[in-house]
Amino acid sequence: MNSRKHKGVDAVMRSLSRAIDGLELPAVEKISEEQAEDPFQILIATILSARTQDATTHVASTRLFKRARTPRTMAKLSVGEIERLIYPVGFYRSKARYLKACCYMLVQRFGGKVPSTMEELLMLPGVGRKTANLVLIVGFGSGGNICVDTHVHRISNRLGWVRTKAPEETEHALYRATPREWWPHINLYLVTWGQNVCRPINPRCAECALASICPKIGVAERP
Ligand code: SF4
Repeated sequence: MNSRKHKGVDAVMRSLSRAIDGLELPAVEKISEEQAEDPFQILIATILSARTQDATTHVASTRLFKRARTPRTMAKLSVGEIERLIYPVGFYRSKARYLKACCYMLVQRFGGKVPSTMEELLMLPGVGRKTANLVLIVGFGSGGNICVDTHVHRISNRLGWVRTKAPEETEHALYRATPREWWPHINLYLVTWGQNVCRPINPRCAECALASICPKIGVAERP
């Protein structure tokens, strides 16, 4: 692997580890802290977080967990009740159906426990690689996964770590482009930075802690 490129990643990640201190954490990380890293609640919150503002995800997840904290109790709720509890997260109707089916499968096939392998997690309704990776990292402490969402995809391209068109392609490229010690931290650092500084539109490059080391690939100069 290109060690010069790895040094660039080291410099960015070390800067971010200091720079994100005190910034608002992503919803799933907050829930993880509040719920003692319970893989089930991390799984459910991550499904709810897709295409949804963090504050909405946090409120909806908390409301749902007050009503049902385990796959067994959640599988017994009707789809309509889950819809009411998670509204207004994005796609709340289809997510309610997925949640019920997911909890049912956890009970029937996995003994009421969240499985700890990528292959098994991908069997669950509503679970793709992004969700599975986050559950493995945050819920099971895996050091061998990278969770890529739109923030990670966008920022790792702006930083020049990868040149990719879609998040799944980015995940595989990041395994080659970054030192393994940073893999479990990439999501937390880049999502926090993407929500606060390196935003999709009008990134705040002038105030960014990475400005001197970031090539800002694809970022338009502001007039
Ligand atoms: S310098 Fe600009 S493009 Fe680079 S990480 Fe910071 S905000 Fe994003």
